Amino acid sequence: MTTTPQENLLDWLRDAHAMEQQAESMLKAQAERLEHYPLLKTRIVKHIEETRGQQRQLVGCIERLGGSTSTLKDLAGKLMAFAQGVGGMTMSDEVVKGAMAGYVFENLEIASYTVLIEAAEAAGDVATAEVCRSIIKEEIAMADWLREHLPEVTRAFLERSADPDAEAKR
Ligand code: MG
Ligand code: FE
Repeated sequence: MTTTPQENLLDWLRDAHAMEQQAESMLKAQAERLEHYPLLKTRIVKHIEETRGQQRQLVGCIERLGGSTSTLKDLAGKLMAFAQGVGGMTMSDEVVKGAMAGYVFENLEIASYTVLIEAAEAAGDVATAEVCRSIIKEEIAMADWLREHLPEVTRAFLERSADPDAEAKR
């Protein structure tokens, strides 16, 4: 049995769409809970908007290739995000763990779009390659921002943790 580059591309675009739905759930859960870290919250809210735009662009690519996005993968992604969201809420250092998890997730996205760009080129799908090149820029910018601000978030958390009058976790 063989699989064409177009079939692989469509499959990976669906994976990416499920990943972006998971991203939105995770980012929303983080943003809704953050209270004392306004800079982080603002950046996350901005990335939620970017993530919604990425979902729309991916749906456009999938539909152009004749596919649909209502798959079980999407549901699995949502359930996973829900489990992660609930898990994160029990941690006393959720802001730090959340920022770390965010950085890891952005790098998963960067890897996914790197693969998609190559697959789109191989399938001769110039429009999809263009879309993925524009999306990966947003993911790299978010990953860079999180890495650059992790020390600041950590310092603010440590200060709040040592202050009996301050809540540190979120
Ligand atoms: Mg994304
Ligand atoms: Fe992202």
